[in-house]
Amino acid sequence: MDRLKDKVALVTGASSGIGKSIATRFAQEGAHVAVNYRPGSAKDHDAALAEVASFNATATAVEADVSKREDVERMIAQVVEKFGRLDICVNNAGIEIKRPFLEVSDDEWNKVVAVNLYGCFVVSQAAARAMVKRGGGGKLIFISSVHEDIPFPEYTAYCASKGGVRMMMRNLAMELAPYRVNCNNIAPGAIATPINQSVLEDPQAKQNAISEIPWGRFGTPEEVASVAVFLASDESEYVTGSTYYVDGGLTQQVTAY
Ligand code: NDP
Repeated sequence: MDRLKDKVALVTGASSGIGKSIATRFAQEGAHVAVNYRPGSAKDHDAALAEVASFNATATAVEADVSKREDVERMIAQVVEKFGRLDICVNNAGIEIKRPFLEVSDDEWNKVVAVNLYGCFVVSQAAARAMVKRGGGGKLIFISSVHEDIPFPEYTAYCASKGGVRMMMRNLAMELAPYRVNCNNIAPGAIATPINQSVLEDPQAKQNAISEIPWGRFGTPEEVASVAVFLASDESEYVTGSTYYVDGGLTQQVTAY
């Protein structure tokens, strides 16, 4: 359980769901973890921090709205000041808004793209600058989605933002390779977290969703965290520019008829 011993990791949107699981697993693996949460969030970030800190007491909470550059730069500076460096940055924070394409407003579009795409840009840029300045490489991990690839009617802004994350990650993999910063996506699909609450609480909608998943069930945040540990660890030294699907085979569910 020491695959990330003494590494310094930041996880955005870490007070719930996948982000919380990744932060917790990283701490279990010996990392010093900064648990990011959104200012004004209704999520219980104290409870999330306590859970992460139960595995590594050095864990700390950092407040920042990932869609605001000044927040993000302050957050990265706080992490570097507290721990002396930043080795691993997980771009997990994300939102979705369901709306038919013909009705999507500019505000809705801009909100989703600001968190999911601009947020990944500004957080990974600030993190990569810190990694490159210190030298010695690093790991940028993006939590995109199966919808970096699969269309999802009525979620156009979400799909566009996640497709953008996929392409951004591939570009960064090339630009940052000389600095030994690995860049990879994890693309989850149908994970039981608050983002899917309305489906999980509706038995018929849940059954419909499960019928699309070859593995026959929703995934767990812990199953996403397992892949994140690999991508954050030294074992993934030669892995960059890739997407790892954690989706029970959802992306393969295209039949000929
Ligand atoms: P959650 O809603 O539990 O997690 C999202 C987290 O992001 C929340 O803690 C949320 O905090 C935080 N967040 C939202 N906006 C901001 C912001 N501006 N600044 C900082 N933090 C913010 O859902 P998941 O754990 O499922 O989602 C995590 C990631 O996984 C997302 O990027 C999502 O798109 C992706 N994903 C999830 C899938 C799934 O099936 N669950 C499938 C594919 C992708 P708050 O609620 O306080 O705003």
